[in-house]
Amino acid sequence: MDRPNAWNQYDEKALCALENTSKNYRAFLDNGKTERECVTGAIEIAKKQGYIDLACAVKENKPLKTGDKVYVNCMGKAVMLFHIGKQSLEKGINIVGSHIDSPRIDIKQNPFYEDTDLAYADTHYYGGIKKYHWVAMPLALHGVVCKKDGTVINVVIGEDDNDPVVGISELLIHLSGELMGKKASEVVGGEDLDIIMCGKPLAGEEKEPVKAALLKILKEQYNIDEEDMISAEIEAVPAGKTRDFGLDRSMLLGYGHDDRVCAYASLEALMSLTEDPEYTCCCLMADKEEVGSNGATGMKARYFENAMAEIMNLMGDYSELKLRRALAACRMLSCDVSAGYDPLYARAFEKKNAALLGHGVCYNKFTGSRGKSGSNDANAEYIARLRNVMDDNNVTWQTAELGRVDVGGGGTIAYICALYGMEVIDSGVPVLSMHAPWEIINKADLYEAVKAYAAFMRDAK
Ligand code: MN
Ligand code: MN
Repeated sequence: MDRPNAWNQYDEKALCALENTSKNYRAFLDNGKTERECVTGAIEIAKKQGYIDLACAVKENKPLKTGDKVYVNCMGKAVMLFHIGKQSLEKGINIVGSHIDSPRIDIKQNPFYEDTDLAYADTHYYGGIKKYHWVAMPLALHGVVCKKDGTVINVVIGEDDNDPVVGISELLIHLSGELMGKKASEVVGGEDLDIIMCGKPLAGEEKEPVKAALLKILKEQYNIDEEDMISAEIEAVPAGKTRDFGLDRSMLLGYGHDDRVCAYASLEALMSLTEDPEYTCCCLMADKEEVGSNGATGMKARYFENAMAEIMNLMGDYSELKLRRALAACRMLSCDVSAGYDPLYARAFEKKNAALLGHGVCYNKFTGSRGKSGSNDANAEYIARLRNVMDDNNVTWQTAELGRVDVGGGGTIAYICALYGMEVIDSGVPVLSMHAPWEIINKADLYEAVKAYAAFMRDAK
């Protein structure tokens, strides 16, 4: 089967639009290095297009109708945007759902200690990482510290050129004879990922003077007390910005393409709708996907169906039965990245069914392991309808699977939404070096994802 390279089809106008999308995505990614920052960024963009807070609409009992646009902010860590269409919600809605949490290193609740005149922050890694990737590289600290009085202190350290960065040390090669003989999974242990925070003693301090210096800086510069770390969410992420990748600038190297590239593409697609859609469209950005979608902001929480109930109620069209019908009638793209074929690791893929960088947005039925376990295994009828929508809208797309059979697997939010009985398939941008600190995507695939998601929201039925 012929799978064209998307770049061959672009004229000047398309190339210009592609660069514009890349530029806007870079800004979104650079300003969104945590799920919280992504929510803030998405809501900022949506508000400019007339989206209002559903919570306010509920409070004011404001009736909703075709053309209205609402957003739902789930604890600042997940977000949903709805553009209400012409048909009743009972007919189902078109959902593009992604996740905005990415693998990282989280600071523990009692993190700080001193050893041999270095002050450290103890950590617990988040999501599936190769731990040896995260040593010997500059890290930035992003997050919030919540005080007992309700104050929330936002922290971003290490992104400005004048900021200091932090990081995790690595054993010199000269002394690594024994270490190099270990399995890669054992070279750096989870408890070895402690971050060096300070290296200079506080004058006049006898007991743990370097840790005292650290606490003094936190107090003076951020009003953070050591006890406040108990109610903090500080994430260590790769410091620095997204970069053009390749001499031809065809790709992007960035932190958190998984899955912020799909989140951004779905957001841009929703914002690009110039007319009210036939069916209500929803752009959903979930948290906690990388750790199993648990927790109040993960997809397993019921915020999506609660939002649907609230919207139906404000449209004067709510009943428990109508809600259940609406959920089951939805069409969804679970927008998540897929593994791009990597010639250097060809043995991990089955080439003719792998996604190629530059060949467009991919559709993925199998993400699991052990005989399709955990896969969406979408219905052939649904895929046929999607093929039609994609081809009618000149989208460059391809199919994908997550590696050779029995090599491994992964999960997405697809199976959780499928529990409602809706049609769902994974669809996303192929990525090289997925879950490494710096991941690679092709700009053409981002551009095609925006086109695909817009076409899906407009035309899927
Ligand atoms: Mn993902
Ligand atoms: Mn992932």
